[in-house]
Order: sequence, then C-alpha cells, then structure tokens
Amino acid sequence: MVYLSYGYQLDIPVHDLIEEFRLHPMVKRLIKGGQLLEYSAHLTPVAGINAAPPKLYGNGYLVVGDAAGFLLHLGIIIRGVDFAMESGRLAAEAVTKAHDLGKYDEESLSIYGKLLEGSFVLRELRTFRNAHKVLIDPRLYNDYVRMINNLLRRYFEVDGTPRKLGSTFLESKGKLTLIDLAKDAIRLVMNL
Ligand SMILES: Cc1cc2nc3c(=O)[nH]c(=O)nc-3n(C[C@H](O)[C@H](O)[C@H](O)COP(=O)(O)OP(=O)(O)OC[C@H]3O[C@@H](n4cnc5c(N)ncnc54)[C@H](O)[C@@H]3O)c2cc1C
Repeated sequence: MVYLSYGYQLDIPVHDLIEEFRLHPMVKRLIKGGQLLEYSAHLTPVAGINAAPPKLYGNGYLVVGDAAGFLLHLGIIIRGVDFAMESGRLAAEAVTKAHDLGKYDEESLSIYGKLLEGSFVLRELRTFRNAHKVLIDPRLYNDYVRMINNLLRRYFEVDGTPRKLGSTFLESKGKLTLIDLAKDAIRLVMNL
C-alpha cells in the first residue's frame, strides 16, 4: 500500500505515526483518562488553483472556498480562510445581481467569474500555481533537513575547535552538491 503526504510516498501510514505519538510516555500521561468527544479530518488540496473544478458556476450553482480549489498550501503555510470568505462574498454579490435579473442560469451567474478575475483570490493563487511542484521534492524533507541539523549541531557545538560558517556549511551539506543547492534555491525563490 502507498501512503502519501504532499504527494510524497511514506513507508509508515500516517495513522500509525499518530498512534505512536499518542502512546509516547510524555503524551500518554497527559491524555490518560480522557474521553474522545469528537474527531474529524480535513484534507487540504496541495495543487491549489490547478485543482480547481473546470467550472465554478453553472445553472443554479456557484463554487466557493476549498471546493473551488481556493487554497494555498505552501508547506509551512496553509491559507484558505480569506479566499473562502472573499469568494463567498463575491458569490453573494453574483447571486444578488442574478436576483435582479430574475434568473439563476449559467449566464446570469457568470458575473461570478468576472468578479473572481478582478479579485485578489485568483491573482494570489495564480502567483503560486507552481509552488506544489517545488514542494513535492522529497529532498526538501530528507537531505535539507539533515543538512540544517548537521549545520546547527556542528556550528554551535562547543568542543574547543574554532568553526567558520562557510566551512561548516560545506561539511554539513552531505550528498547535496553546490549545483543542487543553487538549482533548488532558484526554484524556491521563483515559486514561493
Ligand atoms: C490543519 C489546517 C490548518 C489550516 N490553517 C489555516 C490557516 O492558518 N489560515 C488559513 O487561512 N487557512 C487555514 N486552513 C484552511 C482553511 O481551513 C480552509 O481554507 C477554509 O476552512 C475553507 O473554508 P470553506 O468554507 O471553503 O470549507 P470548510 O471550512 O471545509 O467548510 C465546508 C463545510 O461543509 C461541510 N460539508 C461537507 N460536505 C457536506 C455535505 N455533503 N453536506 C453538508 N455539509 C457538508 C463540512 O463539514 C464543513 O463544515 C487550514 C486547514 C487545515 C486543514
């Protein structure tokens, strides 16, 4: 079976990782005797605007918020509340205009598409439309994490050896080449 997180294959199912966390002695003692009252899950589409349905309005309907693909998932940032609120507001505006026309067919509701085009919602989502292609790279979650750990450990270790940032960095980069680092830096700066 394949378990995916950010389009990246994991060896361990996510629910096993959560179970391991829940049973960790530090956590277990904090939740001991607790009673489960509610649980839920919420999927966040990582492809952003690329995952938008082909039509955001039609005869008698408008699509807003996450359902419309208006979610930005940039690894450390998940942003969608403002897009959901603004697309909801624009949808209400479109419905009010359709109401004035006395019909709610695709043509009357098409104003929603125009309002979206003029809004920050599509502008911002389009700016980051390729972010998921950069963030899907497994190197970010393996080699770079190792590199940062090594760098910080070596740089701050007090063992009587003088450390310079440049040479410590070169010692810490593991199997990443300087070309990898340059290419990834450019891709991150261009897309995030
Ligand atoms: C872990 C996490 C952290 C996040 N952090 C942030 C953040 O810091 N900032 C930010 O801006 N955004 C954040 N988001 C994203 C944000 O939560 C969403 O973008 C936002 O909630 C989208 O609003 P929505 O109204 O489109 O959808 P939702 O909030 O998902 O609302 C949809 C509702 O429809 C209900 N529903 C679904 N199917 C049916 C059905 N068949 N019948 C009736 N009801 C149904 C659901 O139960 C839900 O209540 C985060 C998301 C997650 C998962």
